[in-house]
Amino acid sequence: MKEWKSGREALAQAAKGQVCFVFGERRQETASLLDLLEEPGCSRPEEAIDRAFGTSIAGARALCVLSASSAGVLSRISDLGCGGGILFLLVGQEDAPPADLRPLAQQLELPLLTPAVPQDCASLLGEGFALSGKIAAPVLAEVGPWLLDAASMVEFPQGQSASLLDYQRESGRFVRLPGAEKQKIQLAERRKALLSWLEVSPCVTRKGEGETGLIVTGGMAHSVPQMERLAVLQLGMGWPVNLEEIRRFSQSVEHLYLLEKGRYLAPILAEAGIPVEPGLPWAPEETISPDLPARPPQLCPGCPWRGVLYTLKKEKASVFVESGCLSLGAGLLMKGVDGCGAGSPLALAMGFAASRPGKAGKTAALLTAQGWERCSFAQLGDFSSSRIFAVVLEDAAQPAQLTPQQVARAMDIPIVEADSHSLSQIRDGVRSCMARPGSVLILHGSCAAKEESLPAHRVDRELCTGCRQCLRMGCPAISFPEHKSAIDPNCCAGCGLCGEICPVKAIQKGEKA
Ligand code: SF4
Ligand code: SF4
Repeated sequence: MKEWKSGREALAQAAKGQVCFVFGERRQETASLLDLLEEPGCSRPEEAIDRAFGTSIAGARALCVLSASSAGVLSRISDLGCGGGILFLLVGQEDAPPADLRPLAQQLELPLLTPAVPQDCASLLGEGFALSGKIAAPVLAEVGPWLLDAASMVEFPQGQSASLLDYQRESGRFVRLPGAEKQKIQLAERRKALLSWLEVSPCVTRKGEGETGLIVTGGMAHSVPQMERLAVLQLGMGWPVNLEEIRRFSQSVEHLYLLEKGRYLAPILAEAGIPVEPGLPWAPEETISPDLPARPPQLCPGCPWRGVLYTLKKEKASVFVESGCLSLGAGLLMKGVDGCGAGSPLALAMGFAASRPGKAGKTAALLTAQGWERCSFAQLGDFSSSRIFAVVLEDAAQPAQLTPQQVARAMDIPIVEADSHSLSQIRDGVRSCMARPGSVLILHGSCAAKEESLPAHRVDRELCTGCRQCLRMGCPAISFPEHKSAIDPNCCAGCGLCGEICPVKAIQKGEKA
């Protein structure tokens, strides 16, 4: 029976049908899937990986949800075998460019499945565990954030449960021993099993007939427009590449094109002598409707970070942020961020302050409660004796395992607290932190996208003097037509911050609908 499911729901339902143990790393990008899987998750990827690996050694199946940005940690176990199957779901970040995991999979010699639509999610676990069992090694699957949200009719395969396998201590299989012959044999057997699996792999599908052929890698399927006489070869596996299947496909069409994220497959096809024509067989405007506006790179109306970014800008502080939507504070309307690094902004801010001691007391690192919780003891120790301060958002809609207060108290870090929608509290909090480096300002607020909006505010045009103060709040709901401010009622989230800075109180609370 077919059911309407999002990719996230399809994965969660399939996991329940697979009788597998679920583990995960709790990050912003993995949280919603872990919630559906009823798994609290660990704060560190190493812990989630080790729990899954231990489960597999014991002979059971393990599903482990990780952030795609943590995939490199898998190198620590990639050359070991597994008992029961292990499937690592690698979830991409919403606000970061998608990482190409294919080179990593090749380097680790672990197969990478690339589901493209919710139906693929419904069958992913069955295929992934079957492959993991066949090659006696973990299997990776790349899941983009858009796939978790995309919904369509799906059908769940039946009868894929598994029983606990026997356990035997096998050091060369589960423990890395330098030069162990058994391990080399194990890797050679894995390669052989993978090649034989490729020949019968269900991960390559051909759709349509025509003289024009298009090879599409997973995750790009949604970019293919409906076209007549177009034959599509959808690759559901990022690595290894099924060159024989691609060669057969290329011989069945006159013109061959390639649609892939990044540039991994193109040089492999060129080296294999498979001719691919440049570009795509359609004009670019056929893929994206010009009627769909792109999301402007600005903080949302009602964003809980807006007040503190505004205040830090007024205080002429240097601001470093975690990657993710917080980096939108660098957008044109706010221009309130100096840098966004690869890891914790604490390290970035401390690096900045070390080379600019004059700015040290006015250097801030902004991070989510999850990012704050992920900081190592050593990093928090360095921070507490540094000349910078931190601002952490405690978002009730996205709680971390430890509250920001618990993390700070464990490290003797002084705490100041403020409501994210009260400019006066934020100003007092920021000033107190600037006077006491190594302290943290904990903001209470919720992501505007996850919270129900308050009634929209409105500008009394009789009172408005056109001073433009409110525009400095950088809110996309505020415009300035005919020399006075106006608030778009469909966009305003009713946070009230702009009203706090209007010198003549021209911005007023709206009525409840
Ligand atoms: S109250 Fe003001 S700052 Fe808040 S969302 Fe509405 S327009 Fe933007
Ligand atoms: S701050 Fe107040 S007076 Fe100034 S432009 Fe905005 S609404 Fe008008």
